[in-house]
Amino acid sequence: MNSDTAKTQETALDGPKHFDFIIIGSGPAGQKAGVQASKCGKTVALIEREHVVGGACVHRGTIPSKTLRENALQLSKLKKHMASLSLNLTEDIQVTELMGNLERVLSSHDEYISNQIVRNDIVRLHGRAKFLDKNTIEITHLRGKKSIITGEHIIIATGSRPRDPDDIPVDHEHILDSDSILSMIYLPRSLVVLGAGVIACEYATIFAALGVKVTIIDRYPRPLGFLDPDLTDGFCTAFEQAGGQFIGNTNIKSVAWDGISDVVTTLESGEEIRTDKLLFALGRVANVDGLDLEKAGITLSDRGIIPVDEHCQTVVPHIYAVGDVVGPPALASSSMEQGRRASRHALKLDPGAGSEMIPMGIYTIPEMSTIGLTEEQVIKLEGGAVVGKAKFSEVARGHISKNESGILKMVAGKNGQVLKGVQIIGEGATELIHIAQMALLSKQEVDVFIDNIFNFPTLAEAYRVAALQIVEDRPPT
Ligand SMILES: Cc1cc2nc3c(=O)[nH]c(=O)nc-3n(C[C@H](O)[C@H](O)[C@H](O)COP(=O)(O)OP(=O)(O)OC[C@H]3O[C@@H](n4cnc5c(N)ncnc54)[C@H](O)[C@@H]3O)c2cc1C
Repeated sequence: MNSDTAKTQETALDGPKHFDFIIIGSGPAGQKAGVQASKCGKTVALIEREHVVGGACVHRGTIPSKTLRENALQLSKLKKHMASLSLNLTEDIQVTELMGNLERVLSSHDEYISNQIVRNDIVRLHGRAKFLDKNTIEITHLRGKKSIITGEHIIIATGSRPRDPDDIPVDHEHILDSDSILSMIYLPRSLVVLGAGVIACEYATIFAALGVKVTIIDRYPRPLGFLDPDLTDGFCTAFEQAGGQFIGNTNIKSVAWDGISDVVTTLESGEEIRTDKLLFALGRVANVDGLDLEKAGITLSDRGIIPVDEHCQTVVPHIYAVGDVVGPPALASSSMEQGRRASRHALKLDPGAGSEMIPMGIYTIPEMSTIGLTEEQVIKLEGGAVVGKAKFSEVARGHISKNESGILKMVAGKNGQVLKGVQIIGEGATELIHIAQMALLSKQEVDVFIDNIFNFPTLAEAYRVAALQIVEDRPPT
């Protein structure tokens, strides 16, 4: 099957149709919900308002930002390497060139998803969905044509979008959000990033690596405040080394484009910061507008998200909501799993053990990743913790790959026996973390990292180094 075959399924329906499952939204959450239901022999309709499938994840979020990051990282490595040979990279590289291979990445991804939809006999409907009642959905297609479908189960997977602030004039040209930042053609010389959450910090470090003078401004004292301080310290050091500046504990008075060349950010203190561009990255809102959820009997929470239980079931038992539309953790990884589990729950199938233990990958430069509990959380729970830290500079692979500034922090319970959590900063962190995930899921003791042989040279050896430190520091039994 090719994606042309998938396109023939986008047209309006001749008359009302009934499906076992109706999925609204084709992002990671909707896709996996649909595929799971179809694999169980159910008829599935997947409604998507965009002409392409994949959601914000593929077209405006995860995939484009990671593509830009990869290119920025390679370019900055190349620049450093050339500088070490006393050579200069004189070429003026622009955003569009850096996003050059995005088309290739997106079209492969689009083809993969489209084929998956066709292969699973999912009926793909192109249009905007809204509820008419608890079981009936109206789809408005291009040129106002409408289809009506009914479903035994309905899964809402409509995702999220950047928050549109009242007080900041986001014009998508000078003052951008996390969607429009990718439409920039030229690299700015300077950029203010408002907010210090994951998306803000990822873009801040990507642009800093490209030589843009980046200033992050946030009202909290530390960026990424939910992380272990060892990771945020490492982040701040790397960001400053790349020429970035973090201004914490600071509120904004105003932001305005001066009409000539600069975006003027005025801090509460009265200080003005002038930059070429500004990225507003303070939060996202659930895509619920126009869904007419009240007709299905669903009321939004105070935070504007769809309230669900642990199975992603709403107050209406046959209606589920999954992915960003139900709020945190709002990751592509967790959205996929929520989609799969919601379909299985609707079909009264065992969703599998599942786990509260979700890894977090933060694709800043350098990248960071965490799983399980932090040192602070273990101390709070057990009254103590034993910690081992391994610098990537202590393992051969760190030197070989010039990845020496990374750190792996391993946290064990107060007796220094059972592994409780791992936090990593450094290239490779988002892959390395899965070793810890498997150890945590099988409730391993720290010694497992000492009693087993690791490939040499690998960054994974950092686990051994950290574990040895815990064994050395653990209280005698
Ligand atoms: C810049 C950025 C970087 C990110 N990086 C990462 C990362 O590295 N790792 C990670 O795990 N996560 C990352 N995320 C988060 C990730 O993209 C989201 O968690 C994920 O896309 C959520 O999936 P979803 O299926 O809930 O929604 P979405 O992917 O938003 O898809 C929802 C779909 O529903 C459609 N829709 C909405 N309303 C209707 C309607 N009424 N009718 C029909 N269709 C409708 C939309 O058009 C959209 O296609 C990132 C996000 C951003 C913005």
